[in-house]
Amino acid sequence: MKQELILIKVGEIALKGLNRRTFEDVLMKNIKRHLAPLGKFEVRSAQSTIYVRPLEEDVDLDDACERVGKVFGIAAYSRACMAKKDMDDINRTAAEYLKEALEEASTFKVEAKRSDKAFPLKSPAICAETGGYLLERFPNLSVDVHEPDITVTVEIRDFGAYVRGEAERGAGGIPVGTGGKAAVLISGGIDSPVAAWMMAKRGVELTAVHFASPPYTSERAEEKVKELLARVSEYSGRMRLFTVPFTKIQETIQARCPEELFTIIMRRMMIKIASHIGMREGCAALITGESLGQVASQTIHAIACTDAAAGLPVFRPLIGMDKEEIVRISRKIEAFDISIQPYEDCCTVFTPKHPRTRPVLKFVELAESGVEWEEMLREAADQAVMTKIGYAKE
Ligand code: ATP
Ligand code: MG
Repeated sequence: MKQELILIKVGEIALKGLNRRTFEDVLMKNIKRHLAPLGKFEVRSAQSTIYVRPLEEDVDLDDACERVGKVFGIAAYSRACMAKKDMDDINRTAAEYLKEALEEASTFKVEAKRSDKAFPLKSPAICAETGGYLLERFPNLSVDVHEPDITVTVEIRDFGAYVRGEAERGAGGIPVGTGGKAAVLISGGIDSPVAAWMMAKRGVELTAVHFASPPYTSERAEEKVKELLARVSEYSGRMRLFTVPFTKIQETIQARCPEELFTIIMRRMMIKIASHIGMREGCAALITGESLGQVASQTIHAIACTDAAAGLPVFRPLIGMDKEEIVRISRKIEAFDISIQPYEDCCTVFTPKHPRTRPVLKFVELAESGVEWEEMLREAADQAVMTKIGYAKE
């Protein structure tokens, strides 16, 4: 049996000039990590393509492709079969390797890429030869260079020749780990997992912070957060989750602050604790799933009051998105069905009947001033429980 492999075209990192090498190294490391559970692979790059070759037999290449499809920094990928740099072998390989697809199609074309300039035939001649061979073997086929059912690509490279069918679109974005690290405030809702995914797509490595208020919130709600992060980690790679005990703080807010400011003060306390944990974990920013105007705590005024409490810049990738657009991504990353499971969140505990939609920072700070928060916040951050998400099983 011939050697099959995955050919990968890198995405935007091609634009990074001198940093290209570093970006590519990180991308290759990420690909290896994503594939590690499936077995051993050789991953190397040459001539703006990354080659992924299984080093063991019985590797499930469908599964490998699915995983490669979730690695950020990849524009396109395809399964390919290796052939000798010899037209007879290339033609035979194309006919055998793509047999099923060629039998199903009624039109096709051949494209050739010849990066090994020592190969005797030029690209148009390769297309003509392979095209002619396939036409003879598959009477169902005719050539259509404009809208073929299938495009057969022959690549002649330094190491060998490769034959492949259609390429799949990659996840896009830039490799995780090249954009620094940020802490995402993750609830069990629809929005924050999507926000996390969007920042990972821009190369950001994730750490997660979740606030739990037992007994008002259940263990099942915490499990839900872990399940959501597991979905995100299929794209972003592994991360650490810090679950912060938040009950005492929420009860204190309820006992000591005006009801219409409960939510905004709670959000400020969350952002302070997350800043603390984030800095401790080497994060340079926070991420939230806020979307302008979605709820009372997400008006411009409320966000300004929350922001004023942050010790790190806060990224809100969903700020200008409609719920429908957010849900589309949530479904794509298979988080939606988990998010809509009905487990209470600490945000729904002590929800005021009439939250202030235009809070003024000065008055919010005044409302907070009767309590010694610092000690309580540090204690909560220190007592956070760490869970590893998406780490390979040891
Ligand atoms: P989501 O769908 O992400 O729950 P939401 O529309 O319910 O968001 P809010 O409840 O106001 O909006 O929360 C806004 C953001 O605050 C969330 O996207 C998340 O980043 C953060 N957040 C809310 N609750 C928690 C929590 N229990 N733990 C950590 N972060 C939270
Ligand atoms: Mg929520």
